[in-house]
Parts: sequence; structure tokens; C-alpha cells
Amino acid sequence: MELKPVGPTAQAPAQRFTGDVYLTMIYDGQDPSRMNVSLVRFTPGARSNWHRHAVGQTLHVTEGVGLVGTRDGQVVRVRAGDTLICPPDEEHWHGAAANTFMSHFSILEKRSDGGDPTTWLEPVDDEAYDTANQK
Ligand code: MN
Repeated sequence: MELKPVGPTAQAPAQRFTGDVYLTMIYDGQDPSRMNVSLVRFTPGARSNWHRHAVGQTLHVTEGVGLVGTRDGQVVRVRAGDTLICPPDEEHWHGAAANTFMSHFSILEKRSDGGDPTTWLEPVDDEAYDTANQK
């Protein structure tokens, strides 16, 4: 066994997130593992940019209420205890609802070719975010 002490928490980069979001890496597997697990904490109103994951992503909500949107206009409202599976290459965003914090574990696999597992796209603008909050 290997005990990994509590690691540092960093503010998520503004190029990829709107509002204040904090990332804590839990596990970044080394070959042959491709597992990557992090804890992502969103303050009220904060959300990711649109993006997609080459090998998909599983989100497990640990606190609060959040929103996950896809390009077809679907918005899923998630709560602590929920698990949401985002399939490979489906463009989506995730964030807190407007008036609550939301934290989730991000569980994903890296690409077998070593390429970046996540492709980042444009921000979710305020109008689209406000619409999502009404769903
Ligand atoms: Mn994602």
C-alpha cells in the first residue's frame, strides 16, 4: 500500500472555467494505469467551459446541486450522491447551480496514445447558464 497525503488544491484556470472553481488531484495513474481522479469544487454560479473527453468521464456528486448540459439542450440537475456518466466525445459542461455550491469527483481514463484526454472549448455564456438554471 501507499499512503498519499492530502495534496494541494489549486484554483481552476480562467481559460477553462467561469467563476471560482477549485481542483484537487486525487490520483493520476502511471502506465499501465490510465486512471485519473480529481475532486472539483464549484462555488455558486461557477461552471466549466464546454469540453469533451476522449474516453468519457464519470462524475460523482459529493455536495450540493449542480447542472450538466449537452449540445442538444438537455440539462441534468444533479445532487449529492448522484453519478453521471458522460460518454466519449460528447460535448458537455458541468457546474454548480446558481445559488449553491457543488462538488464532484471527476473519474476519467487517459487516452491509450498518451494524448490529452480532454478537449476544451468555449465558455458557457451567462444567457445559456441562466436558461439551464431554469430547467
Ligand atoms: Mn467533463
